[in-house]
Amino acid sequence: MKNYDNTVAACDIKFKSGKGAVLTDTRGKEYIDLLAGVAVNLLGYSDSGLLAAAEKQMKKYIHLSRIFEDENRKKLAAGLIANSFGNNVYFVNSGAEANEVAVKMARKWGILHKKGAYEIITMYNSFHGRTIAALSATGQKKFHKYLKPKSPGFKYAKYNDISDLKKKISAKTAAVMIEPVQAEGGVNIPSKAYMKQLESVCRKNKVLLIVDEVQTGLGRTGYLFAYQEFGIVPDIMTLGKGLGGGFPLSAVVASEKAGKIFCIGDHGTTMGGNPVACAAGNYLMGKINKKSFLAGVKSRSSYLAEKLKNVSSPLIKEVRGKGFIVGIEFKKNIGPAVTAQALKRGLILNCPKPNIIRIVPPLVIEKKDIDRAAEIFEKVMKTIQDRHI
Ligand SMILES: *Cc1c(COP(=O)(O)O)cnc(C)c1O
Repeated sequence: MKNYDNTVAACDIKFKSGKGAVLTDTRGKEYIDLLAGVAVNLLGYSDSGLLAAAEKQMKKYIHLSRIFEDENRKKLAAGLIANSFGNNVYFVNSGAEANEVAVKMARKWGILHKKGAYEIITMYNSFHGRTIAALSATGQKKFHKYLKPKSPGFKYAKYNDISDLKKKISAKTAAVMIEPVQAEGGVNIPSKAYMKQLESVCRKNKVLLIVDEVQTGLGRTGYLFAYQEFGIVPDIMTLGKGLGGGFPLSAVVASEKAGKIFCIGDHGTTMGGNPVACAAGNYLMGKINKKSFLAGVKSRSSYLAEKLKNVSSPLIKEVRGKGFIVGIEFKKNIGPAVTAQALKRGLILNCPKPNIIRIVPPLVIEKKDIDRAAEIFEKVMKTIQDRHI
């Protein structure tokens, strides 16, 4: 069969199984996975507790409409609320969908409380997902090319630039939506001062603050949620990717104020909050939401960043990151070549921009795998360097 999905390049590797941060192909070759299904497999592959939790629920029932109460769904919502600013939780299936719900919530808030304000300000270089509104929210031209007409009501501001945000905010602004670290946009990290100012500018202008933590949430940055490190309190937070332990699951967490916007009938979903996904999510929360686990993420992620910084290459411009979101910026557009070479040598990397590598490994990755990954990366850089210099 030809490549059945022509929106993704064909790949001839066939994986057989995975354990921790290591995938094995059908020929027995191992790959260290620094991508984790794009920041999804937080506990790595084949965590036995996660499998057991999902299996237990699967034997009871796989799906149950949200018309009826499900114990796992309720418990996961309670866990998210108890450990964040939240007061209400709305489950859906993907990051894009969660952001759509957040946008709907902000628009209704504008109608109820700000004379019909509807504009959502998002950031240049952001990424919010692939549905039409989420793509319109995404502040990157390359995603808008064939989207004409875009979904209206989105405006972009410069990331980490408070004066640009102040210029763009108006009486029409209902919300600002921001990633606490831009991941797909090239691993960009805002200053703490900016995030604090952002919060106060939103409050002053009666604008809801939405944090898109689809990628940064759930321990990725060494905090349960990335906003916590900045000492800010958002009104709405979206979660996704790893939330269901690999099962499709996402959520919108709303503050008490934001939770009052919706009433019965304002949200709906057939598959959202699937009980098996929520069972896996509960197991995952139990593992991640521990001081010792988060301390492990902090220490092993700085170990990884150090290792990468020690790779000396005239082609590397900068290594930057927060926890286990690490970006390597090159001086030339060698990202695709580095990624391809690394894959051949058993290292899975990701290249969101031609000059940038994004690294988002399972949070449980062990030091020995980090060592192996850094060794392979160093060899790859040497090969590429010989070609480019
Ligand atoms: C991946 C991602 C999304 C989209 O999630 P999907 O599950 O692919 O819809 C949205 N926002 C951020 C920050 C992401 O990293």
